[in-house]
Amino acid sequence: MLSIEEFNAAASAYTRRVLVVCALGLLAMFAGFAIAVSLRDAIHEWYHRLFGEKIAEVLKGVTPSAPALVVLFGGLWANERAAKRDPRLNCPSCGMLLVGIRQIVVATRNCGFCGKRVLADPTDAA
Ligand SMILES: [Zn+2]
Repeated sequence: MLSIEEFNAAASAYTRRVLVVCALGLLAMFAGFAIAVSLRDAIHEWYHRLFGEKIAEVLKGVTPSAPALVVLFGGLWANERAAKRDPRLNCPSCGMLLVGIRQIVVATRNCGFCGKRVLADPTDAA
């Protein structure tokens, strides 16, 4: 059975990946705005030629945040997918992802969804 330390290490790695994805999303947002501002007229002209004036105005407003949304949601989706494949982060009985209820799992050593034991009791060093 998995120890509390092993579960915490896997959950901490998951949390670090979420933070990295958020930081990359923020960088993509700044890059998207910088590019969209510097190429504003060229982007608007290209959209206007392809879709017409009304849709070009909408797309011009969406363009700066598009890279950030792709990085953020793509990264979070990939991280969730990796977590669902990690047996240390899922309940062996019901298969639910336990990283979202980490404190409950560590405190009780049971799955918060089905109640089955998922973590070993800590061994006494004394
Ligand atoms: Zn369970």
